[in-house]
Amino acid sequence: MNDLRGDELVAFLYADAAGLNRGRAVPLADLEQRLATGVGWVPADQAITALGPLGEPNPWGALGDLRLVPAIETQTRVDLWPTVPPLHFYLCDARTLDGETWDACPRGLLRSALDRLRDEAGLSLWSAFEHEFVLGGHVPTPPPAFTMEAFRLAAPFGEQLAAALRQAGHELDTFLPEYGANQFEVTCAPREGIAAADEASIVRELVREVARRQGWRATFAPILDPDGSGNGVHIHFSFRDGSGAPVTYDAKRPGRLSLVAGRFAAGVLRHLPAICAVAAPTTVSYVRLVPHRWSAGWSCLGEWNRETVLRIPETISFGGVDPAVQLNLEFRAADGACSPHFTLALLVIAGLAGIGEDLEPPPLITGDPEALSESERAGLGVTRPPASLTEALEAFDADELFAAEVPAELREGYGAMKRREMEILENVPSDEACRRYASVY
Ligand code: MG
Repeated sequence: MNDLRGDELVAFLYADAAGLNRGRAVPLADLEQRLATGVGWVPADQAITALGPLGEPNPWGALGDLRLVPAIETQTRVDLWPTVPPLHFYLCDARTLDGETWDACPRGLLRSALDRLRDEAGLSLWSAFEHEFVLGGHVPTPPPAFTMEAFRLAAPFGEQLAAALRQAGHELDTFLPEYGANQFEVTCAPREGIAAADEASIVRELVREVARRQGWRATFAPILDPDGSGNGVHIHFSFRDGSGAPVTYDAKRPGRLSLVAGRFAAGVLRHLPAICAVAAPTTVSYVRLVPHRWSAGWSCLGEWNRETVLRIPETISFGGVDPAVQLNLEFRAADGACSPHFTLALLVIAGLAGIGEDLEPPPLITGDPEALSESERAGLGVTRPPASLTEALEAFDADELFAAEVPAELREGYGAMKRREMEILENVPSDEACRRYASVY
């Protein structure tokens, strides 16, 4: 192995709209020069479905060239295993040949959305992605949820993941065996702005690598078995003002949610069907997105409520921690097939519109929305998320805010890719579709 050390490769990865990190590698010796100019990339790659085939027609066809230029702060180098070369990569911006951000780059969209949130509302966004995943090939008889048995059967998975995160500069918050069969969850501390979405893409790669080294395969697919538990990606977010002070909390308001955060929430719920096209981006995402799966069966704002698309998690009132710093909103509708950058960008665009239009904060739903009558739900504005990817994509295509704020190339390329994916799975039963996605994500 040691004689390969001089040939270390560094991958330049593009966190693409399909929720996959794809790219090209360069020799470590060339890194310095490559950091400036990047590597070549093909626009139509953004229309490649997660299942393999290219979505056509797409806005690019066989034409054009791009550069993948590394974002220095995303450097990830993990050297934990003596028998394989270090895992070494950067996430990249897709740029045109004159160095401008490519219109269809999800990372570029997120950057501009966050800039607008700062310029127009004076806010910075702090977020943390909670990732659920299943370790395939781990143990044939899954141990009971959350038990020490589950931790120890997986060891040294958790410890190696902690080490990988540390080497890559991320702060592990929690690692746990989850409710589903061989399901686990990892969360890092909140990060400001684009760093949170970068971290989400990086954490997926670290989890996959640590699993690989044990001879297992980690899958983030939305759901593995239609009757089993889903793999959610819950995005916790909060706001700070220009001085860095937390502004999500207001003790006097319902749910202790500040007016500005409530308006942001209202914007997200108003555009939820369209957001789902990106946040819950597979055909089987909608098997997960139903009531009583603790995913996000109802589109509304819940206080301490795991059935709702947006939840205000409880805060702790001991140990000297300030509720104003703790209070956050949790978006529960996303899953592990989503592009973290594209999803977070749509949340920001929708939330900022809610602030800009002074939308009324949504009512707080504390009980099971299913227990309400239909007219009560209608009165409270509680609806179901889209029932299928088809419905979500129709909502995305019809959404006037996103038509104005998301570049046409990105929208059209995304639609071409997703329509191809739906064609491929048209007559495929949902258990088989789950299996196909599980082999990819
Ligand atoms: Mg969980």
